[in-house]
Amino acid sequence: MQDYDRARDFPALKGPSYLGVHLRHGMISIRALARVAHDAQRHGSKGAETWLGELVWREFYFSVLHHFPHIGVPGDHRAFKPKYDRIRWKEGDAADANFSEWCAGQTGYPLVDAAMRQLNTSGYMHNRLRMFVANFLTKDLGIDWRRGEAYFEAQLNDFELSNNNSGWQWAASSGCDAQPYFRIFNPVTQSKKFDAQGRFIRHYMPELAGLSDRDIHAPWLAKPDALKAAKIALGAEYAQPIVDHDAARKRTLARYDVVRAPGKRPPEPREADTDGEEAD
Ligand SMILES: Cc1cc2nc3c(=O)[nH]c(=O)nc-3n(C[C@H](O)[C@H](O)[C@H](O)COP(=O)(O)OP(=O)(O)OC[C@H]3O[C@@H](n4cnc5c(N)ncnc54)[C@H](O)[C@@H]3O)c2cc1C
Repeated sequence: MQDYDRARDFPALKGPSYLGVHLRHGMISIRALARVAHDAQRHGSKGAETWLGELVWREFYFSVLHHFPHIGVPGDHRAFKPKYDRIRWKEGDAADANFSEWCAGQTGYPLVDAAMRQLNTSGYMHNRLRMFVANFLTKDLGIDWRRGEAYFEAQLNDFELSNNNSGWQWAASSGCDAQPYFRIFNPVTQSKKFDAQGRFIRHYMPELAGLSDRDIHAPWLAKPDALKAAKIALGAEYAQPIVDHDAARKRTLARYDVVRAPGKRPPEPREADTDGEEAD
């Protein structure tokens, strides 16, 4: 808890508490945890203060679901902000194929794939990566957040309807206190920022282990010699990227046009929006 504020964003570190599953199944009391965090905060712990804030997000999302039950009606989850239900998500064979590749960790974007493999092999995914892969599914692949939400429900040991739904709607920008719709994570920048040495990627993607710290975030940009030395042929040992981020970004802004107030101009892209550093 003492180091939480410094370590929580880096998936290669044991930064979070991993207590979600115990909270979910009633094996530990939220009051006991809040008390411990609150006491440590009073003694000046910045880590405890940040961690207590996360426990508060949990309680907040419970109350959102309680007061706005339309977001979680079984079989008919709706956007917290109704106008976001106007969005037309990508459907059909190509969307189904992309969804399967996302689920299997075969998108060609190493940190997305490593995160999905963490989920598929352990029933857990680091919070930073939940935000990251949810952004990728909705804003790079243009796939309905409800499909990702359902996949997480099936895989997560700490699955909690309120947190999961609000987490997905945060990424899709349709939720309560969500990120703005024009904030679109750049998957390569995010990878360099939160897994700079590729330690997390290498752990879950041993096939990429031979790439340099620079190339591991975007193998398709590596020089042919570097790929050869790392024994990687794109399309064989590792996937080609299934989507071009810059083109996807433009399609996403067009897709979200339906939620823009009439007459309001679309936002100019700014580095902060593409970089996606944001509070959760
Ligand atoms: C797309 C998406 C889906 C999510 N699905 C779930 C889910 O099904 N179940 C779930 O419990 N959490 C979910 N979260 C929130 C968060 O990712 C997990 O609670 C956290 O990763 C669990 O790991 P931990 O116990 O090590 O967390 P820690 O970082 O140690 O946090 C301690 C506790 O605080 C609460 N918490 C932390 N972050 C959040 C958050 N962003 N929102 C709400 N509560 C939080 C959790 O109860 C967590 O166990 C989701 C987030 C996103 C972006």
